[in-house]
Amino acid sequence: MDKQTEFVLRTIEERDIRFVRLWFTDVLGFLKSVAIAPAELEGAFEEGLGFDGSAIEGFARIYESDMVAHPDPATFQILPWRETEDEGGTARMFCDIRLPDGSPSYADPRYVLKRALNKAADLGFTFYTHPEIEFFLFEKNLTPEGQPVPIDWSGYFDHTVSNTGSNFRRRTITTLEQMGISVEFSHHENAPGQQEIDLRYADALSMADNIMTFRTVVKEVAENAGIRASFMPKPFSDHPGSGMHTHMSLFSGDTNAFYDAGASYHLSRTGQQFIAGVLKHAEEISAVTNQWVNSYKRLAFGGEAPSYVCWGRNNRSALVRVPMYKPDKSSSARVELRSIDSAANPYLAFALILHAGLAGIENEYELPEEAENDVWSLTERERRALDIRPLPRNLDEAIRAMENSELAIEALGVHVHEFFLRNKRAEFDEYRAQVTPMELSRYLPVL
Ligand code: GLU
Ligand code: MG
Ligand code: MG
Repeated sequence: MDKQTEFVLRTIEERDIRFVRLWFTDVLGFLKSVAIAPAELEGAFEEGLGFDGSAIEGFARIYESDMVAHPDPATFQILPWRETEDEGGTARMFCDIRLPDGSPSYADPRYVLKRALNKAADLGFTFYTHPEIEFFLFEKNLTPEGQPVPIDWSGYFDHTVSNTGSNFRRRTITTLEQMGISVEFSHHENAPGQQEIDLRYADALSMADNIMTFRTVVKEVAENAGIRASFMPKPFSDHPGSGMHTHMSLFSGDTNAFYDAGASYHLSRTGQQFIAGVLKHAEEISAVTNQWVNSYKRLAFGGEAPSYVCWGRNNRSALVRVPMYKPDKSSSARVELRSIDSAANPYLAFALILHAGLAGIENEYELPEEAENDVWSLTERERRALDIRPLPRNLDEAIRAMENSELAIEALGVHVHEFFLRNKRAEFDEYRAQVTPMELSRYLPVL
């Protein structure tokens, strides 16, 4: 038995843990959970826990539906909101999903990310990320018209006396820290009821796990406060949506491979090539970084969300930004991807972004000119002259760009690629079939 496993078993004794939840993620990024009694845990470490994969979104074809969840002891954490004096505690571990013969499941998003990280390791890199996670807090009940009601009407960085939002953020951050997830910043965002919490950087696999935990914690804390949290990308047509801007860097050992003291913006050639890769493959990875019909409403009309494929240093309309480097820290050299939203599957999204960046490095793509202007204010023609392409304007365009993408097939594997596109086509068709309130109010009176 290894040290980590021993630690888990000992902690369970000492802390009176009565339930252990085994967590994993389906292909669309929803958390799945099965609770086992501590007595079952040794067995689960040795042999895994079998379940019917065909019941999980994207996991299995009917004829090979048996799957086995193997808990990863390195991810053991006690759930602070479930600890009570008389009922004992509850803990969780993330799982790797395997087939009965022990081989990894091609459909496990965690495995998709691990494969991408191995590819980076073969090139000598580790991948670090830190996300700025935006989301909304709403009252429990909708308006009679079915609209969400924000918990406040504050704006960017607003400080208000004893508001529900700041209490909520404090409670969330305390809970996250208790679970070993460090928070860097938090503040009120632009839209009414909108919050942002930024996690301190970590390797991409831990971060994807952290993001899944984050979503759960936010929902739990909201539930306990009698409000509702939502990661929906764009709940209001006339306020900005929720993005999950993600800062990224590659390290070779302890050295930040994106840093070069002599280069402009201190961005090394590797960093430039990484950006070039992300830009070149931007359309192909969009269906995963922005996976819902609703995601494209956020990307449509500014509100500091990108609509065009370009990069810039201080350009908040750009898809990729190179944030200012901190003079005392070469480790702070990084690039920020601004398209990805808070409702993406973080495992699949990080895997695809990494593949795109590595393609830039392997094939030595040239970084295009920096976009200096506010790209929204340019005309269509000016943008074409500058070779600035639009991001997919809806899920359908994103699906089409992913369909024939070699990069997406390699990164996701054939099974996930196929399932994902089938699922997304069905979602878009359902959307296309709707007759919306806008159409009725606009056309009925005049047509
Ligand atoms: N809410 C904006 C978005 O959807 C981002 C605002 C910001 O710059 O943090 O991307
Ligand atoms: Mg923000
Ligand atoms: Mg940002």
